[in-house]
Amino acid sequence: MLGAPGAGKGTQAQRIAEACGIPHISTGDIFRANIKAGTELGKKAKEYMDRGALVPDEVTIGMLLDRIHEKDCEKGYILDGFPRTIPQAENLTKALAEEGTRVDAAIDIEVPDENIVKRMGGRRACPKCGATYHVQFNPPKKEGICDVCGSSLVVREDDRPETVKKRLSVYHEQTEPLIAYYRKAGVLKTVDGTKDMDQVFEDIQALL
Ligand code: ADP
Ligand code: AMP
Repeated sequence: MLGAPGAGKGTQAQRIAEACGIPHISTGDIFRANIKAGTELGKKAKEYMDRGALVPDEVTIGMLLDRIHEKDCEKGYILDGFPRTIPQAENLTKALAEEGTRVDAAIDIEVPDENIVKRMGGRRACPKCGATYHVQFNPPKKEGICDVCGSSLVVREDDRPETVKKRLSVYHEQTEPLIAYYRKAGVLKTVDGTKDMDQVFEDIQALL
């Protein structure tokens, strides 16, 4: 899944993963789990995440390649938030090519920056299972509680407005070039992410 922070990658990745019975792999979720568990990786990642910067490629690429070689990924997987830089994409392409496979589809969810800032203020996340809600557009059944696992929902530290602005500029600089990268590879698919979540999901299913 490609798209700006807050475009709806996690929301849609979770639905596609459920529909296809394949794992949803979010590098952001893996970093947050490591922060919570107090690992060395988590400590390193937190420094960058808190200020809206990207975690360095040296840390991120190896971690992701390890994850996609786990047993549950044998039948495919959906990547959310990776790749985020051209070197990440190139390393992924190379690793997959060595195994005779490739990325089947890069789905870009398009949402203008103005909408993003509004969305992020209302995002609530489950720190345990990674499910995402929105106070207005996708509220949980019981306020503040995750529908999936019953944990208390939180506001992500990096969803403060100043950090969101920084993350958007990092996105335009470092991640947006991936749209051209995957277009050239012939696998880019684009959806209008300003529609409501169910419609976006239908559009993605039609494309796939
Ligand atoms: P990303 O993974 O791209 O950062 P999320 O999936 O977490 O984005 O979505 C960001 C916020 O916007 C969440 O609070 C989510 O519930 C909400 N959201 C996602 N898709 C839509 C949509 N199509 N319309 C309105 N709000 C949305
Ligand atoms: P996300 O949950 O996808 O919004 O990611 C939250 C934060 O985790 C980002 O702002 C980055 O600091 C970090 N992160 C997640 N994925 C990557 C990645 N592929 N490369 C670098 N940093 C990442």
